[in-house]
Order: sequence, then C-alpha cells, then structure tokens
Amino acid sequence: MYRSNTCGALRASDIGSEVILSGWVHKVRDKGFVAWVDLRDRYGITQLVFDQERTSKDLLEKARELGRETVIQAKGEVIERASKNPNIPTGDIEVLVTELTILNNSLLPPFTIEDETDGGEDIRMKYRYLDIRRNPVKNKLIFRHKVTMEVRKYLSDQGFIDIETPYLIKSTPEGARDFLVPSRMNEGQFYALPQSPQTFKQLLMVGGMDKYFQIVKCFRDEDLRADRQPEFTQIDCEMAFVEQEDILNTFEGLTKHLLKEIKGVEVDEFPRMTYDDAMRLYGNDKPDIRFGMQFGELNEVAQHKDFNVFNSAELVVGIAVPGAASYTRKEIDKLVDWVKRPQVGAKGMVYVKCNEDSTYKSSVDKFYDQEDLAKWAEVTGAQPGDLICVLSGNTNETRAQLSALRMELATRLGLRKSDEFAPLWVVDFPLLELDEETGAYHAMHHPFTSPKPGQLELLDTKPGEVKANAYDLVLNGNEIGGGSIRIYDKETQATMFKHLGFTPEEAKAQFGFLMDAFQYGAPPHGGIAFGLDRLVAILGGQETIRDFIAFPKNNSGRDVMIDAPANIDDEQLKELHLKLDL
Ligand code: ASP
Repeated sequence: MYRSNTCGALRASDIGSEVILSGWVHKVRDKGFVAWVDLRDRYGITQLVFDQERTSKDLLEKARELGRETVIQAKGEVIERASKNPNIPTGDIEVLVTELTILNNSLLPPFTIEDETDGGEDIRMKYRYLDIRRNPVKNKLIFRHKVTMEVRKYLSDQGFIDIETPYLIKSTPEGARDFLVPSRMNEGQFYALPQSPQTFKQLLMVGGMDKYFQIVKCFRDEDLRADRQPEFTQIDCEMAFVEQEDILNTFEGLTKHLLKEIKGVEVDEFPRMTYDDAMRLYGNDKPDIRFGMQFGELNEVAQHKDFNVFNSAELVVGIAVPGAASYTRKEIDKLVDWVKRPQVGAKGMVYVKCNEDSTYKSSVDKFYDQEDLAKWAEVTGAQPGDLICVLSGNTNETRAQLSALRMELATRLGLRKSDEFAPLWVVDFPLLELDEETGAYHAMHHPFTSPKPGQLELLDTKPGEVKANAYDLVLNGNEIGGGSIRIYDKETQATMFKHLGFTPEEAKAQFGFLMDAFQYGAPPHGGIAFGLDRLVAILGGQETIRDFIAFPKNNSGRDVMIDAPANIDDEQLKELHLKLDL
C-alpha cells in the first residue's frame, strides 16, 4: 500500500492515527534539531515533521537531504501542530514521521513548482508535466473535467446519445485547410482529419439516431491567430425533427445548466439579436453586451458640412465612452495612435468631449458647431462627462475598427468583468459571404446550412441577401457555439453546391455519399457545436484557452515538449510512397 490517505485529507479529527502518505517533496525547512517537509500531491499539501528527539537522528538526516520534487513515502502519526496554518485544509495537523522511503529521485526542476513560478512560458511548455503540478494549471484541468461531466450529464438526461465518429475521413469544406494523412495501404491517397464531424452527424440523423452528441477533437490547419489551436475540442450536437427554435431552447438550457452548476449564476432568457443588428450596433457578430457603448451612425448629422473626410466616407460612426471626457490631450493622442496601429488600421479618429456643463469640445470644431455636436451626442447616447470617438470610411472596415476600439476601451475601463455573464443568440446570418478578393461567394457557416424558407430563389438574383437558418451563441464577446438547420433534400443541396462554385461532378465526387443518403428518407435536422476550450476558459474567468488544455501547441502549431511536428525517416516515406520536395 503506497498510501492510506492523500496529502489533502487529514484533519484534526485524525490526530492519533497512524497514516502512510506518498507524494512529492514540495519544500524542506531545516531547523537543525527538527525539519519539516511539505508533501504534495493532487489533493493538497501535508506537513511532515522529522524530529531527532521524538523519532531518530538518522531519519532527520535523511529528510534534510531530500531535494525538491523527490517522490517519497512517509509513515507516521498524525499529531496536532504547534503553530497552525489556517490557509490550508490540513493546517491543523502534521505527521510525525517514523519511516521514510524514497520512491524516486528528481532532477532539480527548471522552474519552481509554486503558484507564482519563476518559469517563463516557453520553459513551462517544454516541461508541461511539471507545470501541471502547479495549482493554477492543475486546477484548470480539474475545472475542465467538471464542465465536461456536466455537459455529458445534461445532454444524456435530455436523450442525447454519445457516438464516436471517425478521425480518418475525407475532406469536409468548413473554410479551413485540412490536415492530411497519407494512406499506406492505398497508395497515393490521403485521409483528411475532420474539421468537425459535420457530415457524419447528419448521416446519424439519416440513420435515425435522433439526438447525437460527442465531445470531440477537430482539426483545422489554419494560420494560428492568437489563442487558436490546430486541434481543439467541440461539444458537437445534432437533432432530428427540429426547427431553429427547438435547438436554441435546448442549448440555452445546456448553457444555463453550466452557468448554474459551475458558476452558481442564474441567467434569464438569453436575448436574441439579428446578425444585421449586431453589425450595426456593435460592428461585430459576437458583441460583448456586458456593457453599452453601442454604435451611433452619424452620416445624417455629420455629412454635408465642409469636412471632406466625413463627406467622402461610406460610414461615419461613433461610440460614447463613459466618463472619458476627462482624458488629457496626451491620452487622446495615444488613443488615436492605437486606432492607427496596423492591427486596427484606422486612418484617424475624431473626438468630442462632452463637458459637464453640456458644452462640447471637439477635434473638428472648425466644421461643426455646438448644435451639430449635440446631435452627435444624442445619436451616440453620450452623457455629460463622456468622450465620443468617431471613425469613418468603408462600412465593413470602419465597423471592425470601432469594434476593436470599443473592446479595448471597455477593457481599460474595467467593464469586461470576468464574473459577469452575458449570453446572446445572434441569428439570421447571411447564407453566403463575398470573398472581396476573388469576387466568389463562400458559405458563411458551411455548405450544409439551409436558407430561410422562401429565400432559395434569391440565390440567383441577390445571393448576398439570402439569410440562413444559422445561429451563434455568444458569451461575453466570444463565439462559444454555432450551428444551423440543415438542408435535407438532394435538390436544394445540389443547388447550394452549384452556387458555391462546384460543378455537379465535383459535388458528386466530394459529397455524393451525403446526397445519396438524402434520397433515403432524411429527416429535417439541425445542430450546433460549442467550442469547449473557449467555453471552459470563459467559465473559468480567463481569456486564454491554452492553460485549459493539458498539452497545448504553441503559436507555430508546435508541441515543444514532444517536439512535433518532426521529420520522418526515409523508410517511412518510402512505405507511404512519398517524396519530399523542399
Ligand atoms: N460543424 C459546425 C462547426 O464546426 C457546427 C454545426 O453546424 O453544427 O462550426
């Protein structure tokens, strides 16, 4: 028996018992005639005491030599501590050790295994297994487990069946590049790793499974923007005989269940916003509605004066920043520099200080009088004491820029509170999205999403205006889930492929299996997938997903611990009938 108890278990009520503990040496404190060792495992820390008077000098010598992270087993009696530590649950007791066994030695770790470590990000990634011993990382993995258990419980109670789908599949076009796997047995042919189980879950509906879910890895070979992972986890779901309303209700239920069980937070019915409104009011299809600062479109009140920058702009739009009229000239200049950074890309920023005495001071006083500026304040909802920030230019770009500024200012003003949860359904997404470079239309969600009833005809005339039965669940400015009602008949699916630029032959070659299946009584169906990593991070009150993944990859898609990806030897290449051309 390695242990009778864990290092987090013993309390005052155990005083007098004989126990055996096993764990890692967290710290040794040597006071000459007595030494204390903090013994650590996943469950906590227990203080061991080695005392030459009460036990033996040899034992004390042995304890004194223990290096950090040595794995030991200690046997002894639980005694009351002379000076108690109220900060840890085992703080009332210590174990007077009578037997000590070294189970394994440890090299000196390259960083301290403490909550506040001295190790930088790179070194901690390389020795991730040591980082996992630290509370902040360990607790995040345990937190993730709690979330996934609640997800499984909820969905299973609702009648969803957990079904695995294959990882070695054929490419599904969901907007990203596929990771490819050469097949040794089928010369020159490749599997693709799934970007999501999309077509399989639809086929499960054709198979009559009715309600499916899976907590599943998905793979997308994208250039990694900050905080994305090439392999990530989805809570993937699909339901048959449902309309959009059924899906929204079911997954609002799941989200409420998680908020309640995990955070103890009860939220009312989730608000809903159309995609068009989200873009108009927040410049973004995943607005953070924990705070205001809605966009006010100023074209009507700001154009047709002598200010050409605005007159020539497609959109003039502003936000009222609460309490920011007190910003100094220098602070405002810094803001202007911030929006002009290449990452944001604005050409400049016009501002209006709304003074407490209801007068206005702006950077364009030459062109606009007090009455004009009062109208700006009305449109943006600015109060005395606020600062109106105005950007202008091409609609899409300007919205994106002002949205970035809104989020930045909210962060600076402390308005993005991590203990506040503001879920939102964004609905009525466009079906198609124009690629401005190529002039071609792509599916905004994926090619299996159904247009709104009666809008199929519009595909020929005004493809950009067709709305889809597609929805996203947004939490605190992050898209945590997205899905759609699917096309379930062969003809509509074929029309959709045609509009996405597939010839009938290409569509058949790539998706013949799905269109074939639709001919055997496919039920109406729809679904959604949640990004589990992000959901867990937000519930955990954090912005970065990496710490909630046991073994994440870095920004170049590398696992620096196992050193992957890596070269393979010539023999392996030969077996796969591959030649490198570098
Ligand atoms: N497969 C979709 C995705 O990964 C989700 C869905 O439509 O259910 O975004």
